[in-house]
Amino acid sequence: MLDETLSIKINKTQNSKIKNVDWENLPFGKVFSDHMLVMNYADGQWGIPEIRPFESLSLHPATSAIHYGQSIFEGMKANRTDEGDVLLFRPDMNAKRFAESSERMCMPVIPEAIFTDLVKKIVDIDRDWIPNKEGYSLYIRPFMFATDDFIGIKPSDTYTFMIFTCPVGVYYSDPVNVKIEEHYTRAAYGGVGRAKTAGNYAASLYPAKKGNEEGFHQLIWTDGIEHKYIEESGTMNVMFIVDGKLITPAEDSDTILKGITKRSVVELAEHWGLAVEERKITVEEIVEALKEGRVTDAFGAGTAATIAPIAKIGFRGELYELPSVGSREVSNKISRYLNDLKVGKAEDVLNWCQSV
Ligand SMILES: *Cc1c(COP(=O)(O)O)cnc(C)c1O
Repeated sequence: MLDETLSIKINKTQNSKIKNVDWENLPFGKVFSDHMLVMNYADGQWGIPEIRPFESLSLHPATSAIHYGQSIFEGMKANRTDEGDVLLFRPDMNAKRFAESSERMCMPVIPEAIFTDLVKKIVDIDRDWIPNKEGYSLYIRPFMFATDDFIGIKPSDTYTFMIFTCPVGVYYSDPVNVKIEEHYTRAAYGGVGRAKTAGNYAASLYPAKKGNEEGFHQLIWTDGIEHKYIEESGTMNVMFIVDGKLITPAEDSDTILKGITKRSVVELAEHWGLAVEERKITVEEIVEALKEGRVTDAFGAGTAATIAPIAKIGFRGELYELPSVGSREVSNKISRYLNDLKVGKAEDVLNWCQSV
């Protein structure tokens, strides 16, 4: 059971697929490591977690997550240092956010220390799957979904928690073009935008597809009432440098996902003595500053891409071009630090990395 002396069943594969991996050519999220972790919840408690060979699941057609969306996830990465140590970046923050998402979606909470421990266990078993190439990592996907075989709207009584991992290459190879979205809404006040829950992403597909058709990689979401305030991007928080200050939307409404990358950028910038403001940011303020050439940098911050420079911002049919990526001292410095830190090549001044 789940106590300090976490017991776990381990059934290793006899048939590793690692020889078949094309390490030079890793698409994001399509290659899966040898094992997965499964832990079931029933009768008011978590069962014994099990690590077993990666395989498909067999599900009852009435599995409630499929119909009613009680499903949450996390995304994190593991990297290897030149010395062969395996590092996780702030896994305690993912554990905390997973617990918060669980709470919001009426799902059972996994104690944070146990979540982190289970992540470490699965990464340890498949540590040979961590790519060695620069910019590559082992992406970790913890998730939980409702498993009652029942047609009816109520919190499920049973759940499955799982973790699998994927060796991944770079997420975006080029700077992204984003459109400020003024019609569709990602998250409403009082809604579930702060939770990393499946339906948020399903709901964003249609507006994102419309944006893609206009040539944008991503949208910048605005508030659901007036479409006046900048919120975030699809799977990234957004940050700007305007008049030399790093600004990013505050997370005090429950419509913005509390990104760990964004939090880290803020903490790092403050540590380095840069001016940082977390506050409400209007679309108007950004568009004015773009017109006047005062936006020297804009980027998305998220685990998958780390720092994704924004090349162009679209708003009401106008396209505003940002300075070349090479000129962006602050975000380049942040990006370099975070990437170096994750592979043990920079000093961990804020004590973020945990080894496996
Ligand atoms: C996961 C996610 C982010 C980024 O969070 P990180 O913890 O930095 O990976 C931002 N916005 C949304 C909507 C997300 O799902």
